Amino acid sequence: MLLKNKNAIITGASSGIGKQIAKVFIQNGANVAIIATSMERLSQAKKELEDIKKDPNQKIILKDIDVSAYKDVEEKFNEILKEFVHIDILVNNAGITRDNLLLRMKEEDFDRVIAVNLKSIYNTCKVIIRPMMKARKGKIISISSVIGQIGNAGQTNYAASKAGILGFTKSLAKEIGSRNICVNAIAPGFIETKMTDELDENLKKQMLQNLPLNRLGKTKDVADLALFLASDMSDYITGQVINVDGGMVT
Ligand code: NAP
Repeated sequence: MLLKNKNAIITGASSGIGKQIAKVFIQNGANVAIIATSMERLSQAKKELEDIKKDPNQKIILKDIDVSAYKDVEEKFNEILKEFVHIDILVNNAGITRDNLLLRMKEEDFDRVIAVNLKSIYNTCKVIIRPMMKARKGKIISISSVIGQIGNAGQTNYAASKAGILGFTKSLAKEIGSRNICVNAIAPGFIETKMTDELDENLKKQMLQNLPLNRLGKTKDVADLALFLASDMSDYITGQVINVDGGMVT
């Protein structure tokens, strides 16, 4: 029970990695606010979380928020704050892909990926750091990607957004470290989710050949690191990017 009585907000928690992070947090005693755009998928995720609660008093709040829209984030995060009173942990996980070679990439697809994957982190952190600073504690964890470190043909928008998270994380860690707030990023490699299901089979085979651990990652591999970074066990770690990638980037 590493997160007993802690309050966490997790964006993009209706599926994949974000849902698994919510599960691991719930199993460790946290109250969670889960965020996504579709209330239907959030309600389904809530059912799964209710089934694994450790204590009947653990709270699960759902909010349909487009994390790329500042006003939406501000209004609904304040509603969450009213209910939780303080937020101990923010996990910025929501993300999308709109892949194409740059020659064919539409401006709207570049802009949308930057807005959902990167601008969103400005939005959520801007709202949440003030109460965290007052409380003189907090953990902020953002989900980047190995693609932000090594690039990938067809993903200039995605790679730029994920690389941006790294610079943002290191800068914010320096700004608010003195207030006892730790800001870190996780760079997953290829994890088995809806996002990687859509990848071309040949590309997947090629990826596996270059992976020392020779398997795709599981959402739990990422969620367990998020648990560590959210817990008191990581209180002296900030401004770091930790890879969960089977050895892909060394
Ligand atoms: P996923 O299964 O597609 O989940 C994405 C989540 O983000 C969903 O809950 C989705 O819910 C939510 N979302 C999308 N747009 C949103 C918006 N505008 N506002 C709020 N929520 C939004 O993806 P995943 O594979 O678990 O990926 C999770 C994160 O890990 C992403 O940031 C991704 O870039 C990163 N990552 C994944 C891999 C991988 O191999 N899977 C590798 C490296 C990094 P709604 O659609 O209902 O909004």
